[in-house]
Amino acid sequence: MRLTNEVYLVGGGPTLGFGLSPDPDCHVYAIDGGDELALVDAGLGDGDAVERIVATIVAEGLDLAKLRRLLLTHYHADHAGGAAAWRARFGVEVVAPAGAAPVLRGGDERAIALDVAKAAGFYRADYRFAPVAVDREVGEGDRIVVGDLAVEVFDTPGHCDGHVSYLLHGRERRYLLAGDAVFCGGRVVLQNIHDCRVAVSAESVAKLAGREFDALLPGHGPIALSGGRDHVRRADAAFGKLFVPPGLG
Ligand SMILES: [Zn+2]
Repeated sequence: MRLTNEVYLVGGGPTLGFGLSPDPDCHVYAIDGGDELALVDAGLGDGDAVERIVATIVAEGLDLAKLRRLLLTHYHADHAGGAAAWRARFGVEVVAPAGAAPVLRGGDERAIALDVAKAAGFYRADYRFAPVAVDREVGEGDRIVVGDLAVEVFDTPGHCDGHVSYLLHGRERRYLLAGDAVFCGGRVVLQNIHDCRVAVSAESVAKLAGREFDALLPGHGPIALSGGRDHVRRADAAFGKLFVPPGLG
């Protein structure tokens, strides 16, 4: 699904996405940097998920031979579970938050709260997270090049540890690829898991609300191509009154 001339939505499950790939895949975005493509987040990588995302990329007229990088926002399985498959099949450079890299390499299912997420019914019991080699660790202030476009990195923990958001400086607008740090409608996802922290999430949302961008491209749910900052400001305003903003779903 072409969002603009430089960003495409190529994956995401039907429940909190557009049904481009199976549940519980997060939104998977493709950035067209001209002579280079990058994906943001990988989805779960279960069943035929990678095949369906590949088919969408090809159907959009994008050249898979240009796919060089996979940028991960955080280590939850619905975002990073497919990373190993993408790396093995396409040789992509896996870019991940420094705070998430050891866990991604080790595939520790307790560290990524996959054990409790399975128990809660979000994943089938016999799903296994595939450990993935991280080629580049990034954090606050780092810059990534995707063809002729630049991406800034912001540390945005709170939803979980080792979470980053990516600010893409496009040709026609700026895009905040927020992962699960903040969503359209001023929503957040704060879960009963070991590394989720309300006050830390509030600090991350405040940081993002202070940045200049047009589009809010979150990890799930609605997408805003303009006025994205207003959505983040709504979450920031709720936190400012000491309330937790509403959740997704
Ligand atoms: Zn998450």
